Amino acid sequence: MVHVSFPYSAPVSQTLFDRAAAVTPGGVNSPVRAFRAVGGTPRFMVSGTGPYLTDADGREYVDLVCSWGPMILGHSHPEVIAAVQEAVARGTSFGTPGEGEVALAEEIVARVAPVEQVRLVSSGTEATMSAIRLARGFTGRAKVIKFAGCYHGHVDALLAAAGSGVATFGLPDTPGVTGAQAGDTIVLPYNDLEAVHEAFHTYPGEIACVITEASPGNMGVVPPRPGFNEGLKSACAKNGALFISDEVMTGFRTSKAGWFGVDGVTPDLMTFGKVMGGGFPAAAFGGRADVMGHLAPVGPVYQAGTLSGNPVATAAGLAQLRLLDDAAYEKVDAVSAELRALVREALNKEGVAHRLQNASNMFSVFFADREVRNYEDAKAQESFRFTAFFHSMLSQGVYLPPSAFESWFVSTAHDERAVERVAAALPAAARAAAEATNAPEATA
Ligand code: PLP
Repeated sequence: MVHVSFPYSAPVSQTLFDRAAAVTPGGVNSPVRAFRAVGGTPRFMVSGTGPYLTDADGREYVDLVCSWGPMILGHSHPEVIAAVQEAVARGTSFGTPGEGEVALAEEIVARVAPVEQVRLVSSGTEATMSAIRLARGFTGRAKVIKFAGCYHGHVDALLAAAGSGVATFGLPDTPGVTGAQAGDTIVLPYNDLEAVHEAFHTYPGEIACVITEASPGNMGVVPPRPGFNEGLKSACAKNGALFISDEVMTGFRTSKAGWFGVDGVTPDLMTFGKVMGGGFPAAAFGGRADVMGHLAPVGPVYQAGTLSGNPVATAAGLAQLRLLDDAAYEKVDAVSAELRALVREALNKEGVAHRLQNASNMFSVFFADREVRNYEDAKAQESFRFTAFFHSMLSQGVYLPPSAFESWFVSTAHDERAVERVAAALPAAARAAAEATNAPEATA
């Protein structure tokens, strides 16, 4: 057990959580929301405006999670809401093609040069699952390389050494995934090109693809070392495998063209989600037209979805993307830099060893004394300090991701007032992190 007290209560959230636990496993529909990594009562949110969330007990928080990335314009952006209302008024699902999905596909193709064709789906998990199937179908090969600490959704074959909730809970493996499903997955240490070359050498002609987070955010933020993505690309090209860049988190967030816009490495396939859905379930995979041409109905690789290209979701995503111009990214990058400087200053003042790592505006704090380059490094941090830091921030009205293995997210709506509120909370949180101890039973 970690020594953390909860000096404040959230009675309405607690009542809702009790009700939820009776009818839903763990009381949540996605594991990290349950606060298991940090303890305490998950806050049930009832509304969001700009950079703020309000919980069921009527408390307001500065939101540094932004729905795990999508809300890059802040909550309830009036133009996104208007687009949604206009779409809803025309009907919610037709099960036919519609112009909105064409416009969203055109927007994605226009922004991200390697994407010649794109298929819309409803979640990031679906996007990566479909991209892997397509890579296998295209190459006629079975094996997939992924990296420890990279999370690509809860795809069976990719739930090996995944980050995110799996890292949070330290699950060694996932019951329910059979040996056959995971047996073709080769898990390598992140940022290690030598290991990639070795794998291609060991399994000549067997590797369908390498999938990587374009810049990982699911073990905390661990950017690729210079040349890493480029090295993956050329190793794939040399060995007849496809290079899949998972931009579900970084896409349309780290720049107008996502991480591709930052490092310029051209993947064969890419996956998207989060920002492109404007807070609705919309995601996509796309890339080379000759590869995408293997998908049904033109090709033999089957892929489908009742709600794929849903008119309300595509309206929200399109409205959000159209508002994300250069000025918007400058704003988000500037807010992120300001917050990073404030966090660094507060932790330094209390003498807390830490590393602040960022991938453009995505960032996270590792309570570690050296650079975090891979999952092993990330796991070595003193996450009990994060627990104390998190609860201090929460009690002062700042909502951080409830895990030390997640990126923090900001938006264009994070204004001076919101930043000041974070700044005011940081000294006590840094002190709490400094004073945190790992109780002996935790190591027993
Ligand atoms: N890929 C990455 C890089 C992600 O961060 C996530 C979710 O966090 C996914 C895939 C899965 O997306 P979803 O939760 O929409 O299924």
